[in-house]
Amino acid sequence: MKGIGASPGIAIGKAVVVEKKRPRLTGVTLQSEAEVKREVLRFEQAVTSAVAEVEAVMDTLVAHDGPTEVLEIQIELLQDEQIITDVVEKITSEHVTATDAVMEVIAAAVTTLHNLDDAYLRERAADVEEAGNRILMELDPTLKPSELIVSENTILIGEDITPMDILSVDIAKVIGLVTRTGGKTSHAAIVAKARGIPAVVGCGDALASVRGGDVVIVDGSEGMLVVNPTTEILNEYTAKKKAFTTQASALNALKDIVAVTTDGVRVKLMANISNAADLEASFAFGAEGSGLLRTELLFMGRNTLPTEEEQFEFYKNVALQAGGKPVVVRTLDIGGDKPLPYLHLPAEQNPFLGYRAIRICLDRKDIFITQLRAILRASVFGDLKIMFPMISNVSEIEQAKAILEDVKTALRSASTPYNAAIEVGIMIEIPSAAVMADLLAREVDFFSIGTNDLCQYTLAVDRMNEQVKHLYDPFNPGVLRLIQNVIEQGNKFHHHTGMCGEMAGDVTATLLLLGMGLREFSMSAASIPYVKDLILNTSITAAQEICRTVMAMRSTPEIIQYLQAVTKR
Ligand code: PEP
Ligand code: MG
Repeated sequence: MKGIGASPGIAIGKAVVVEKKRPRLTGVTLQSEAEVKREVLRFEQAVTSAVAEVEAVMDTLVAHDGPTEVLEIQIELLQDEQIITDVVEKITSEHVTATDAVMEVIAAAVTTLHNLDDAYLRERAADVEEAGNRILMELDPTLKPSELIVSENTILIGEDITPMDILSVDIAKVIGLVTRTGGKTSHAAIVAKARGIPAVVGCGDALASVRGGDVVIVDGSEGMLVVNPTTEILNEYTAKKKAFTTQASALNALKDIVAVTTDGVRVKLMANISNAADLEASFAFGAEGSGLLRTELLFMGRNTLPTEEEQFEFYKNVALQAGGKPVVVRTLDIGGDKPLPYLHLPAEQNPFLGYRAIRICLDRKDIFITQLRAILRASVFGDLKIMFPMISNVSEIEQAKAILEDVKTALRSASTPYNAAIEVGIMIEIPSAAVMADLLAREVDFFSIGTNDLCQYTLAVDRMNEQVKHLYDPFNPGVLRLIQNVIEQGNKFHHHTGMCGEMAGDVTATLLLLGMGLREFSMSAASIPYVKDLILNTSITAAQEICRTVMAMRSTPEIIQYLQAVTKR
């Protein structure tokens, strides 16, 4: 069953289904003023007892250091003047029962919230609904849930699991949550995340088929639910669960430790990102900034080019989110596997060898200038660097830098602030650039090795073509020689050389790259703890020895076998 992964991790346990008793309209019309008065009083008493009940729960929670915010919201909503006035007004003017008045007023408030654009506010409809249900339960005690009996390893399953549901069970025994409705900011999601319990929300009607006692796997990372799994699937998820737990503890233990080898050499570990949210998430893995901000996503999935203002806001957010940590902003790398339909680029025989990245930008200067203006304007909000992709010769760097200088001049004459000392670097991802790294090093402040493209161009293997997938091989001795040359030349010219291709996050390559002299690795954030763990447990001397051994080898299987053997910890 597919849902929304609301809290990561894997839980395997037994289902306990939370049954909700639904309130019904009474349809009764009050016959006298005395009856009206009595219903208003019943309503007011119901609100008072609902508040008292929530306060009692809060007291026990405070005693156990539990989170009380959701309950504070409940008290506020129960005492909401608008809701109270509307209900009393309905009873007195329409002569309906307290139950009917509460149901109608709450339903209207919920509909209004549901229609809002803001996802968070939409989810708050659940808070209002819950407050309403509390009052309804006081008016009709038969609606109160029967006490849930949970045993060890319980997976709670329900329509929408409310804080009240969670508080009414022995939460220590609950290892997973699953709901039919709700999104990432629903209560179930918030509570699950706060407690580190895997959760899948918004599973839809299919969830009705789950019965109490069913064996359930909750995969909160993938948003998947498996009910009564086969032994094979159970084994698969047991292994996944173990891997997740190992990763989580490695992550926690290493997050705030800097990567230093046993002989004291400092290595920087950064994250590849596409926006400010990715950057924020990467800090949980200990990222020290970003070695690659792919700006393409900002241009994709829309019908027109983003304006300078839109781009400025985007880069500014990233710079602010980074909080002083460096972020390498790569200029547009469109074409090849990343089409942009609204540019109407002509179809090509060999898109990867064609009109892409810096080639488009040097041709369509309007696009390039707009992006450079936006990046430069945002550069006063943090440590942004500029990186040009797909460089194959010196002339492209000269042209790109000349345009950058023009943009700086224009900003200066308009007194628009920007970081005049902004660093400029290039991706090394075309073999010619890797071979003449010594020449290119003089032109820029830094290199970043893009192994994804470097590998495809060096080996003449389309990185998207399934048929030649087996030939795509970053450990090919030819590719390794190119990488080694780039690192050596970069280090010789004393500017920093990073790597942002997938190889930077591959633990099999870590010791070899360290031995080659690489000191900056940028990767998908989740890989950082693993790479860091290796760095913390090796010396540069050992890594250099590993590098010498590998560079004398002739074939990939031999290299990988050796690297895996020396990498085992
Ligand atoms: C690369 O080519 O290695 C790289 C990081 O860039 P992309 O994958 O975006 O082409
Ligand atoms: Mg690339």
